[in-house]
Amino acid sequence: MNLARFPRIRLGHLPTPLEPMENLSKHLGGPRLWIKRDDCTGLSTGGNKTRKLEYLMADARAQGADTVITQGATQSNHARQTAAAAAKLGFACYILLEDRTGYTDPAYTQSGNVMLDKLHGATVSRRPGGADMQAEMEALAEELRKAGKRPYVIPGGGSNPVGALGYVGAALELVAQAAAMDLRIDHVVHATGSAGTQAGLVTGLVALNSGIPVLGIGVRAPRERQEANVLALAQRTAEHLGLPASTVRAEHVRANCDYVGQGYGIPTEGMVEAVKLVAEKEGILLDPVYSGKAMAGLIDLIGKGYFKPEENVVFLHTGGSVGLFGYPDAFGLPADAA
Ligand SMILES: *Cc1c(COP(=O)(O)O)cnc(C)c1O
Repeated sequence: MNLARFPRIRLGHLPTPLEPMENLSKHLGGPRLWIKRDDCTGLSTGGNKTRKLEYLMADARAQGADTVITQGATQSNHARQTAAAAAKLGFACYILLEDRTGYTDPAYTQSGNVMLDKLHGATVSRRPGGADMQAEMEALAEELRKAGKRPYVIPGGGSNPVGALGYVGAALELVAQAAAMDLRIDHVVHATGSAGTQAGLVTGLVALNSGIPVLGIGVRAPRERQEANVLALAQRTAEHLGLPASTVRAEHVRANCDYVGQGYGIPTEGMVEAVKLVAEKEGILLDPVYSGKAMAGLIDLIGKGYFKPEENVVFLHTGGSVGLFGYPDAFGLPADAA
């Protein structure tokens, strides 16, 4: 495996820190919790999509594109990081936002990530929930081609074998970082959605023969479908790297989708508690759609004895705290009387 064979444009502040969460570990009574700060990748407040975009934007440039198109939910962190990468690299950027929640609060429809998409100069348009977003992007690409542009279509979440290379790189980074700290990682836990993060991470960790299991906490699809999506993309990523697809097997891919609640982007009580707890104990901001639900899952699984007290569990913080501003009412915070 040789990642340097693939074109890459540096966008992130890497390596991201790997730090202990001592207060939270103590509060929960073990295991030893660590946090890999991929919320600190730097690009427009950071997040996991930045690693993927290093490879996707390089591929766009290699193909001679002058425009990128992508899609996501209204409060998409991927859309925001794509808009920022496009701005920095001089691409025009078109973003299609799917209304997956039906929320009409202007904070949700205009603030947080949506505000930043526009601040980075992206052209934002909306689609109804359930639209065929890939087809919508293809239609827009066709229109732009007719107008003389050279568009490059980035799938939702940047999740394809090119984007997943960013998380193969993250696996190499994490294993090297842990070795330098004499840290034996027993588990990695993170939010899984469009599957590219987990697929890349698992591919890298398995290719290294690290023996580190990854647990993805789902935010949308039921477990069987999520695991199948991750496995399929991991196998395509392995092939893209020149490894046999069979390098990654079903036993390497574990998702738990018990913490989705009513649906994608819809707050749960566990998410609210987890966001508050980590903010109060560690001074770290999670997000309402992904890392908050993943942390709710991690906390619940700790309570159920899923991990041994002396184990080292790394929570991969995938970013998204800007999304908090799209959900001002979810947290039940007292209005300031002053
Ligand atoms: C996109 C995203 C995820 C999920 O990553 P996938 O690669 O889509 O599975 C997790 N957390 C945050 C904050 C995200 O924006």
